[in-house]
Amino acid sequence: MRGMVSVTRFAPSPTGRLHLGHALSAVRAHDLARAGGGRFLLRIEDIDGTRSRPEHVETILRDLAWLGLEWDELSFQSERLALYAAAQARLGDLLYPCFCTRAAIAASLSAPHGPVAAYPGTCRSLSAQARAARIHEPHGWRIDIARAVDRVGPLDWRDDQAGTIAADPLRHGDVILARKDAPASYHLAVTVDDAAQGVTDVVRGRDLFEATHVHRLLQALLRLPTPLYHHHPLIVGGDGQRLAKRHGAPALAAMREAGEDGHALADALRRNMLPAGFRLGEA
Ligand code: GLU
Repeated sequence: MRGMVSVTRFAPSPTGRLHLGHALSAVRAHDLARAGGGRFLLRIEDIDGTRSRPEHVETILRDLAWLGLEWDELSFQSERLALYAAAQARLGDLLYPCFCTRAAIAASLSAPHGPVAAYPGTCRSLSAQARAARIHEPHGWRIDIARAVDRVGPLDWRDDQAGTIAADPLRHGDVILARKDAPASYHLAVTVDDAAQGVTDVVRGRDLFEATHVHRLLQALLRLPTPLYHHHPLIVGGDGQRLAKRHGAPALAAMREAGEDGHALADALRRNMLPAGFRLGEA
C-alpha cells in the first residue's frame, strides 16, 4: 500500500552534460517530493563504465545546486552491483546467455530512449551443449520475455497522465538484463533500485514510457511494488526536434557558466515556461 509520503528520484546517467529536459525532470521530481513532505533522491546511473565519467557527476551536482534543488540522499549504481546480481539470480531459468555482438549488448546498459528494435532471439534456441561450449566467451543475459509473461499473467501500471496502462513487455523482445563485465542493465538496475530505495513516484521523460512495460514485468517477477509513473513531455527545439545531449542542446553547465540564474530557470520550468526557442513537446 502506498504511504502518505512521496519518495521521488532524479536518476541521470553521467555520460554527458545535463540539458533543459533533465532540469524539467529534476524540478518536477523534487517538487513532488517536497509538496508532501517526502524525500527526493539523487541516483547516479553509472553502471556503464565505458561511458560514465566522474567529471560529469561533479557537473550534475553543481547544476542541481544551481537550480536550487537539494537532495536527501545521493547514491551511485556502480556501488550497488551486488543487488543487481542478486536480482539476476532470482530470475533464474528465465534468463539465457547471449553471445551476440558486444555493441548490441553495450547499448542496453544505457536507457533505451526511443523505439527499441526487438532482439530476434538467436541465442534463445541454442542447445544446452552449445551454450556450455561458448560460456567462456563474452556474453550477456537475456530474459525470455514470452515465458516471463506467461509466468506472471496480465499486468498493468498507473501513469498520472495516461491512466491505467496494460503492460506489454513482449514488444521489447528478449531484453538484455546483465552482462559479464557489468552485472546489470538499465532495466534491471532501475527496477531494483526504485524498489530498494522506496521510490513511490517515478518522474521521468516521455521517452522512457515504453521502458515501463519491461520494468512492470520485472517488478512482478521479483515481487517488488509498483510505483506511480509520471512521464512528462519532452522539451523540443523550435524545429520540433527533442533535446538529446548528443545533439548539441544547450547544457545547463553552459548556462550556469554564462551567469544565468538557475533558480529563475527552475521557477520558469515550474510554470512550464521555457527559454526562447524551446517548448514542451507532445504529451
Ligand atoms: N538514467 C536514465 C537517463 O539518464 C533515466 C532513468 C530513469 O529515470 O528511469 O535517462
